[in-house]
Order: sequence, then structure tokens, then C-alpha cells
Amino acid sequence: MLSRVQNNKLRRLYAPYRGNGFKCNYCGNSFSKFAPWHARSENSEALDRNKVIAGYGENVFCPECMSTSRERLVIGMLGTMNISGKEILHLAPEEKIFNVLKRKCNVISADLMPGLYSNADKHIRYADVTMLPFTDQCFDMVIANHIMEHIPNDHKAMREIYRVLRDNGFAILQIPFSATNGFTIEDISIDDPDKQSALFGQKDHVRIYSLNDYMNRLRKAGFVVGYMPYESLGELHNYAIQPDEGFISIVKKTNE
Ligand SMILES: [Zn+2]
Repeated sequence: MLSRVQNNKLRRLYAPYRGNGFKCNYCGNSFSKFAPWHARSENSEALDRNKVIAGYGENVFCPECMSTSRERLVIGMLGTMNISGKEILHLAPEEKIFNVLKRKCNVISADLMPGLYSNADKHIRYADVTMLPFTDQCFDMVIANHIMEHIPNDHKAMREIYRVLRDNGFAILQIPFSATNGFTIEDISIDDPDKQSALFGQKDHVRIYSLNDYMNRLRKAGFVVGYMPYESLGELHNYAIQPDEGFISIVKKTNE
């Protein structure tokens, strides 16, 4: 998200803040504060109006390696799971999460626009999440971090992820969400980026999920879904994860 020049600038700027406070669970460096990241002005009104927890605010970028709070949440959760030797599909792969997976698992990365992610994995494959080019039950885990809010037919995408997962397989499908709205705001007929910014808080988003509705959509696709609120994430707070963002636990259980 930031260029090498911007990263070098950040390192210089944050050199005085080295030390205790937050620790990056990717590069291992500690700083008393991380770098902020603020929403673009054309997006911020919709995000503020709907109180969307979307990865913006203070302490987002690690000044050393540029990991983001949303990457550090997933890396932290992966650290609590036994993923050694597992087969994992990583959609729209974020480089740092992909590197963590690569060290421990058999990971395949894929995206609708693979060229955008070749810096993370030069072997990335083409895949449409609503029509995954994989056989049934061939993965132990699917990761699509902050993807579903871009997909018009999210039900089809959820069903596809369900299909390619093995029984007891796990999905990490975090999204930006409104914790206050009781309903999802969406209109998939809108494909004007300016209107999408004004309504959904980003020019390539097709909705703002309410957390409850999102979990219900996942349940409708067949998953067993739970939520670990931010307050319950304990040690992960040390990694400067996004305040108020909890972890959505999504499991395929066919034998219930
Ligand atoms: Zn770092």
C-alpha cells in the first residue's frame, strides 16, 4: 500500500518511537506508536455515518515493515492455530500473510486480477471467487481478507468457499463492518465509483455489511459462525490491531 520511498520516510519519522508499546508480529519490531492511516475524504462521510470499522485510524502501519493492522490480526490468529502442513487457498493475497503461510503450509494464491498481487506470489493463479477452479473439499483453510464487500454475488462466493473446504475446514473472511447498523446497506445495481464512495465508503465496494447480517449470510451458506469481540482478543492487542474489530470464526461442519 505504501511505496519503498514512503516506507523509508516512515522509518526515519518513527525512529524516536522505537521501544515498548506495540509490537509487530510480522517483523518483530516494537514502537510506542505505529503510523496512522486515514480514509480518503470522498469515502469518509459514508464510513463515519455508518460507524464502519474499516482498518483506518491510529497505529495502522508498522513503521518498519509496513504491515497493516488487518494483516497483523490475521497473522496473530494464525499463530493460535495449528496450520503446519495444511492446504490453504489465499485469495487476494496480502504479501505478509502469504509469507507467513508459505513458511508453514502448502498455500495456493489466486485472484480475479492476479497481476495486482504478483509482488506477493509470482505463481498466483486466476480465480473468480464465485466460480473457483478447484475440486470439492480440497482445502483445509480459505483466506479472503476484506474481499466479500467487493463481490456483488457474495452468497455464491460463500457457497464456493464452502464447497472447496474440507469438513472442519476454516475460513478467514474478515470484512469492514458497521457494528451499529442493524442492516446491510447495498445496491449491486450501482456501478459508478463516485456513488459507491458516497454510499459504501470506497469506490470498489458494493455494500456496507452490518456484522450480524454478514454472519447470518455465512450461516445461510452453511457455515458455523462465531464472533470473538475485540475485547476478548487479549494478547493480540499488543500488535496494534484495529480497535473494535473482532475475529469472525467460520467453520464448515457437515456432520452436525
Ligand atoms: Zn513490522
